[in-house]
Parts: sequence; structure tokens; C-alpha cells
Amino acid sequence: MYSQNKGKIALISVHGDPSIEIGKEEAGGQNVYVRQVGEALGRLGWQVDMFTRKIHPEQANIVEHTSNCRTIRLSAGPEKFIERDRLFDHLPEFVKSFLNFQGQTQTLYPLIHTNYWLSAWVGLELHKHHLFRQIHTYHSLGAVKYRSVTTIPLIANTRLSVEKTCLETADCIVATSPQEQEDMRSLVSSQGNITVIPCGTNVQHFASTERHSAREKLGFAPDAKVILYVGRFDPRKGIETLVRAVGRSEVRHPENLKLIIVGGSRPGHKDGRERDRIESIVKELGLEEITIFPGQISQSELPNYYAAADVCVIPSHYEPFGLVAIEAMASGIPVIASDVGGLKYTVVSQETGLLVEPKNEVAFADGINQILSDPSWAKTLGKAGQKRVLSYFSWDGVAEQLDQLYLSQLKQLHQDFFAVNVVS
Ligand code: UDP
Repeated sequence: MYSQNKGKIALISVHGDPSIEIGKEEAGGQNVYVRQVGEALGRLGWQVDMFTRKIHPEQANIVEHTSNCRTIRLSAGPEKFIERDRLFDHLPEFVKSFLNFQGQTQTLYPLIHTNYWLSAWVGLELHKHHLFRQIHTYHSLGAVKYRSVTTIPLIANTRLSVEKTCLETADCIVATSPQEQEDMRSLVSSQGNITVIPCGTNVQHFASTERHSAREKLGFAPDAKVILYVGRFDPRKGIETLVRAVGRSEVRHPENLKLIIVGGSRPGHKDGRERDRIESIVKELGLEEITIFPGQISQSELPNYYAAADVCVIPSHYEPFGLVAIEAMASGIPVIASDVGGLKYTVVSQETGLLVEPKNEVAFADGINQILSDPSWAKTLGKAGQKRVLSYFSWDGVAEQLDQLYLSQLKQLHQDFFAVNVVS
């Protein structure tokens, strides 16, 4: 059942196709966010078109998800995968394709919600062509990211400048956590309009699986101690810290310990190289027997992994939001996470899990030990996490907040339009 037609929205996500399988190098939280937000807004009565770049000649140009929500793939550069740091030169063509699409379908989007700095640039360019309100979500801030990486890409200065212009000129910036808002203010600019609306998760989906049956399905013994990581293979995810923590003698003790590292990778690509590196550390520490790499797991299968685990570990060096934290919490398991970014907001230390210093394998080892050695405390943490997600991070709640934001932006647009016409 859909509510009344509230109007059209374009969600632009140049590099994050909302309709592809999640879990590979360039497909993660942003793809999930755009898809879930798009569908939820569709249910609230918006006509949602999600624009992304076509990366394969055989990909459909349009994918209908529901009668109110579809993905539209536009040509921008060669129809092949290109790493996001190399996409900037193809953005003018993306803008052209977007304008052509609007022309051919005689559509003008009054609201455009851009995602990540590449799409921010597209939004800024589109302002030269017609009147609309731009809402933007960063998903990652260059100013924060570049502090935690060793090699700064060539595109860094362009990115930092687009992020600053966007913050100062977009109609509204959606920060997904109060920490992200603080970072914008302290590292990017004191100007611009920011509102905090978190990311969400499908709580029912992740809460629906029971531990015993999940373990049976995955072949884990009922008494196994299962440590879970879910996410992309990317050095900033800090998987090395987790593996080294598990390699420490105090954690390694129980015979029935299992370390599950879920995530997709492609040999020869950036994620494939990171997986090779992690596998070699696993080997170096003699953890091959207890470590499993199940590869990329679909969203429909993931609840089994969360439900079967005793603890989910998120050792990121930097995490703008971190959907995995709220998925694990929705599943009722405790989370040990780095005390950074959005994780500071989603995970409440000692209440729904533990926050520890990033890159500190001793601290992670301590946390893992504490939780694995006290199942009844772990259960209490898991239950509190589930409650927290239900209260603050359900997609429907998030979509309702976005719905209100869009309605107020639309109202503003009508006022702007009126002002322009009265003046002329
Ligand atoms: N994911 C998945 N399958 C995998 C690995 C990850 O579906 O094999 C999903 C995971 O469930 C989450 C998203 O990818 O929804 C990762 O989002 P997060 O915000 O944690 O990290 P990002 O990828 O944005 O850095």
C-alpha cells in the first residue's frame, strides 16, 4: 500500500549502484543506504529514481524495484568498473546523461539527494541548469579519511574542495551521526545547513533468525565460540587488528574458537589484494584452522551469520556510520568496535558492546575475552543493542525523518520559485 503521490525525487549515487549485490570493494553501506532509503520513500508516496553509472554493457538501463522506485543507469565513460578515485573525469558526461534523461522523459526533479562527493559535484553542476533543492549525504569525508591513510590519492584536493563547496552551498546536508556533524564543522567549514538523520536497518530481517538453527545451517557446533567480521576487504576496515587480536595467546585458548571473516573480493583488485594480505597474517599466526572466509554473503543469508555469532567485531580505523554495527545489534549480538566516527554513536560501550581504541590489538583481545568468557553478560549486551536499534535505527523511522526533510525542502523550493517569478 502506498500513500498519496508526494512528488519526484532523484537519488544520485554515481559509484554506488543501489541494485547490485553488496559486499564487494565498491559496494557497501552506500549502496544499501540508497536502495533502502529509495524503497522506504517509495512506500511513503514519493516517486523515487535512483541514478548511478552503468559499468557493464549488459546491465539494464532501468531496473524497477517497486512501482514507485527504480534504478536508472546512465552512461559516463567506458561501460566498465572504474575505481572511485578515478571517476572524476567522467562526471561531466554523467551530468549530460542526466540532463538528457530529464529532457527525454520531460521530467524535472525538484529534489535531488546526492550521495558521496562525486555525486555532490554532479549536483553542484546541475544547479547551472535548473532550480531544485539539493540534499547531500557524504558517506565518507575526505578530511577525516585522509588522516587515517598512508597514501593520499591525486584526487584528494579536488575532493576536499568539492566537499567544502557542497557543505557551504547545498540546501541541506544529512549527517548520519552527531560525530560526522562535528567533523564537518571542525574540519570542513563552519557554514552550511546540517541536520542529523542516521542510517537505518531492517530490524525484522536481522532479528528473525534464531541462534540454534543458524548454527545448524552453517555447521557450527552449539558450544563453539564464534567471532564475526562482516564488511569489505579494505585496509581502513582494520581486519588486521582483529586477526592479530585473535592471534594473541589469551584469546586463542578455547579449542572451539572460530573466526569468520565475511566479505567479497576479486583476485587482482584492491579488495583481492587486501584479502591476500589478511590471509597471509592468518597463516603467519597459525590461525588457518579456526579462520573461515565464506566470501561475499547476500543480505538474505547474512542474518544466519549474525545469529550464529557470539560477538561481532568492527575494527575500522575510520567509519562514517557503519551499518554492520546496527545489523549485528538488530540480530541481538554484542559488538566490539573501534571508538571512532558513527560507531561512537551506534554502540554504547558497556551497554550494547564495547568501544575500544582503533588499531590496538591488545584492547580488542581484552574485549573479545571479556565477552566470550561471560555469556550471560553477552546476552544482556545483545538484548540492549536490539532495543537500541529498534528505537533509533529502523529504516522506516529514518525514512520518515527524510520524508519530513523533503517536504520542508519542497515548500522552500515553491517559495524560491515564487520569489524568482515575482522578481522577474
Ligand atoms: N555486506 C553484505 N555482504 C557481505 C559483506 C557486507 O551484504 O558479504 C553489507 C553489510 O551487511 C552492510 C554493508 O555491506 O550492509 C557494509 O556497510 P558498512 O556501512 O558497514 O560499511 P561500508 O561498506 O559502507 O564501508
